[in-house]
Amino acid sequence: MSTVADNLQSIQTRISRAAQRAGRDPESVTLVAVSKRQEPEKIRAAISAGQQVFGENYLQDAAAKIPEFPDFLRWHFIGHIQTNKAARVAELFDLVETVDRLKLARALDKHCRVLNKILPVYIQVNIGREAQKSGVSPEDLPQLLTAVGDLANLRVEGLMAMPPYSPDPEEARPYFRAMADLADGLREKGLLGNQREGFALSMGMSGDFEVAIEEGATVVRVGTALFGTRD
Ligand SMILES: *Cc1c(COP(=O)(O)O)cnc(C)c1O
Repeated sequence: MSTVADNLQSIQTRISRAAQRAGRDPESVTLVAVSKRQEPEKIRAAISAGQQVFGENYLQDAAAKIPEFPDFLRWHFIGHIQTNKAARVAELFDLVETVDRLKLARALDKHCRVLNKILPVYIQVNIGREAQKSGVSPEDLPQLLTAVGDLANLRVEGLMAMPPYSPDPEEARPYFRAMADLADGLREKGLLGNQREGFALSMGMSGDFEVAIEEGATVVRVGTALFGTRD
């Protein structure tokens, strides 16, 4: 049976190779270890093996879990957020990947002001236009980006997307490419601020992170390939 440390090493190798195939520096890709519904021992094993960035998408679970782990970790929120839970998310997390509407952004901003905190956020895009998925539509993205960019306590650092599920990673490739094109278009219009290099594209999970990196992902969110199946 492979251990979390073995899995982490193999994922890092796969990330490096995918980056090299795309002519990119492997250091330009950040691995977010998605620890939702995983045993604390497995999370500790990942930390011991050097992993420092984790992703959670259930607020309740994360609120119990985060204080149990060392302060030097960085926690990304990657789940749907009800506006009335924004205060708790703003308090607990280092980065929120799932800002998809102005009302939520304003609620996060308001609580960050109280906390005297600048919160990095990504805007979640519903790139497959799926009715059941969260995310702003590509047409509404420029307006949301501009409005969130005006909020003093949020800093827009990237875009996040989850393409329609398919067991074949090649099916996701056109969606990853569409995200990269969307980001390029926004950059040309000057809508990505002055973070020309640092703007993140969070896309790719256990089944398709290599394809996502080939198409320009700078952040991949990997759960089961690292920790095994969830409870
Ligand atoms: C659960 C989850 C992941 C990780 O999925 P795996 O297939 O286990 O790698 C990534 N992103 C989001 C938004 C998730 O909810």
